[in-house]
Amino acid sequence: MLTQRQLFLQHNAQTSPTPLLLEFVKAKGIYMYDSEGRKHLDLIAGIGVSNVGHCHPAVVKAIQEQAETYMHLMVYGEYVQSPQVNFAKALADVLPKNLNSTYFVNSGAEAVEGAMKLAKRYTGKKGFIACKNAYHGSTQGAESLMESDFYSKGYGPFLPHVSFITHNNIADLDKITTDIAAVFIEPIQGEAGIRVPDVAYIKALKEKCREKGVLLVFDEIQSGFGRSGKMFAFEHFSIIPDILLLAKGIGGGMPIGAFISSLEIMSVLSDNPILGHMTTFGGHPVCCAAGLATLQILLEENIINEVEKKGQLFKSLLQHPAIKEIRGKGLMLAVEFEDFETNKQIIDACILDGIISDWFLHCSNSMRIAPPLIISEAEIEEACSIILKNVNSVLQLKA
Ligand code: PLP
Repeated sequence: MLTQRQLFLQHNAQTSPTPLLLEFVKAKGIYMYDSEGRKHLDLIAGIGVSNVGHCHPAVVKAIQEQAETYMHLMVYGEYVQSPQVNFAKALADVLPKNLNSTYFVNSGAEAVEGAMKLAKRYTGKKGFIACKNAYHGSTQGAESLMESDFYSKGYGPFLPHVSFITHNNIADLDKITTDIAAVFIEPIQGEAGIRVPDVAYIKALKEKCREKGVLLVFDEIQSGFGRSGKMFAFEHFSIIPDILLLAKGIGGGMPIGAFISSLEIMSVLSDNPILGHMTTFGGHPVCCAAGLATLQILLEENIINEVEKKGQLFKSLLQHPAIKEIRGKGLMLAVEFEDFETNKQIIDACILDGIISDWFLHCSNSMRIAPPLIISEAEIEEACSIILKNVNSVLQLKA
């Protein structure tokens, strides 16, 4: 009989020629458990998803209750479905007044696509500006907002009318002109290797967009829901975007995304033509119930307040001559080594030692640290000592 691994390679489409092939059978809190009974610390939270930990009991309960009540009824936006209404209302309650209308979708890339259409419809313009080294998803619209052709090779042509600026470069903001519909930016760049811009830059960006009549879209798909130490990363910069994109962590492990704007901006999607933007499964009631439970956990438990302190603990413990830099905000961190080879060897050694990490799409010499936000200080100390042990062993091997 074929093993699960063999069946996986035979019947599940592959995204790389060398998948990790770890076989997990259970996950709880910050740990995942493999088929041989070994426990692995998830230092990347399923890539920025399991902010409240794997299988948080309140999220599981909300999913079970909603699944027993009703699941799919009809495409998004037709019926009044209380899980969608309650989650949208709860989001509006934690967001500024101009971000009070939520369109739920299934993923981050779909939130990006929806926002691109919304910006075109609302402004009547077709140009976009995005950042070099951005990552906004793997659909063709989202990929049009990515300059790097490494991952896009062979998939073009992409959308025209997109130009690129350098993140955190104020002079480049002059490229934002009146014919641009929207600027898409990750306020903290994720796949670029966690790049936190200056407050002055984000303020200048907001001002330039206001001056030129351009919508400012913040992709907080990775940085949202507490990861940066605030509920939303835009709070670090004291500005408010026109459109906010969320996904990943907002479903507590269930697939859901959202693009959020004002009622006024969002209203253009409802008419002329009607039904011009639709989704069958977006805002699935079970995912919305999980999302609401996740938001309530973040609001009621003392999780986000501790994130900055925990990030600082990683920064203070991960001191080593081989670590060139450790950068980021909250529990959205990158540990930079000399080169990809060193980074990869350390990551592989950590994985063998039960610590799961990876590198960034546009920054292969840096190791990702983005654990569930509920990680304790003792667990951080344990993770850091295993990382440092493996830094030493890999360096000895290389010497
Ligand atoms: N935007 C950012 C900043 C991301 O990090 C990602 C995924 O990593 C996406 C968009 C795409 O999200 P999804 O994979 O859910 O389509």
